[in-house]
Formats: sequence, structure tokens, C-alpha cells
Amino acid sequence: MQKNRIRVARVEGIVLSRRDWGEADRLITLLSPELGKLRVVAPGARKPSSRKSGHLEIFSRGRFVLARGRTFDKITQAETIDYFPTLRDSLERVSAGYLMTEMADRFLQEEDPNALVYDLLYEALGWLEAGEPVALVTRFFELRMLGYVGYQPQLYRCQHCDRGLQPVDQFFDLREGGVLCPTCRPEGGELTPLSLNGLKVLRLLQGAEWSVVRGLRLDDTLADALGDLLHRYTLFQLERELSSVRFIDDLRGSG
Ligand SMILES: [Zn+2]
Repeated sequence: MQKNRIRVARVEGIVLSRRDWGEADRLITLLSPELGKLRVVAPGARKPSSRKSGHLEIFSRGRFVLARGRTFDKITQAETIDYFPTLRDSLERVSAGYLMTEMADRFLQEEDPNALVYDLLYEALGWLEAGEPVALVTRFFELRMLGYVGYQPQLYRCQHCDRGLQPVDQFFDLREGGVLCPTCRPEGGELTPLSLNGLKVLRLLQGAEWSVVRGLRLDDTLADALGDLLHRYTLFQLERELSSVRFIDDLRGSG
């Protein structure tokens, strides 16, 4: 919290991550619509007697009372609004949830509120909870999220010659953050092929409402190709691998 802020704050938030801290505490990363990403300590949350700990699970949305602390602010009260119990029963859905919370955590700076990302994350967790198609929820989240933090993939004009794209297979350039037409494809350049179908799906994910997107039927090959493209683009922007992506790859490799 900023130095001049009041001593006690009431915030709504989603738990993005948590880890052990000190003897019996937890360090929690919260995403609040008004205050942005916050790192706060939950004193004593690892004690069996703690009443707070059940309200501090990853993905949970809740209301929290924060008090000013020296290094980190402290959670003095916590109350869950949404726990997403069904999501937690499926390893596939939990993995998708991890990917989304990790992306939000990595892309957002502390105390830089982004209500669009907050609402998107909350909705996407709700869709996972409701049994919506996991791959579509994840790709939808990734594309929207990238746009909300300033890395909107450019899908309508060639990033080199600026011409409108023709209905043929294209290429995606991570460095340019968008599509290159076949004519502009540099020899030996590091580009990811993007099929015409793939481009159409990405445009829909980027621009259409979820009520439209959820009706899409993706075959596995295309779903994997788009997932791979968006992970590579995310990695390029973050300059670091997401641990949840590695986890999902391991899960699929061993499945
Ligand atoms: Zn071009």
C-alpha cells in the first residue's frame, strides 16, 4: 500500500497465488478490481486453528480486510464469496485456472489496477466451474488478456506491408506481435505458420462475445496449434516461461 493510505482497507479480490511465509504465515497475491495486484501476509494462516486459511485458497474470490504492515500489509479478516468447488475436482480445469492466474500475476504490476483483467479472470474461472470447454476458455482468456495489457495480437493487416490479409494461410511474427502475409515472409525468419482457419478462430476469440465463442468446435490439431502459438507469444512478451505451461505439457505428455 502507498505510504499515505489509510490504515485499514476493505477489498474484494481473487487469490492469484500463495506460498508459505515465515513460521506459520502465508504470503498471498491478491488481485483486486480497485487496487490491482497486492502482496499481503496472512499471519498464522498455516496454524491448524486458523479461521482465515480456508478463505485463502488459490482462485477463491472473497472480501478481505487489510491492515497496514511494515513490509507487507496484513490480512486481518477474510470471507469467501466464490470458491469454485467443481473446478477444483478436475486436474485439467485446475491447470487451466493456474495458467490464467499465473498470466494475470506475471503481466500485471503491483497496485496498477486493471478492472478488465479482473472481470475477465472472474468470468473465465466461472466458465471453468460451469463445465465450459477448457481449451476455448483458456484461448479466449489468453487473447483477451494479452489485449488488455497492451500486447493485442494484430490479426487484420500484414505487419510488414500493411495490406489487408487475403483468405490464405499466413504467418505469425512474435516480434511484430501480429500476422505477416506470405509475400512478406522473410527468408529464414522465425515465423509460426498460421492457417486461414486458425486466423479466423483467433479473430473470433479476440472480438466475439463468449456466448458466440463457446459454440465453436475446434479439432485437436488446430486447438493445439493455437495454444502453442499463444504460449510462445506470451513467453516472448514475458521473456520467461510460465511454470503452469510446463506443468500442462508434462501432464499431457504423460497422459
Ligand atoms: Zn505483407
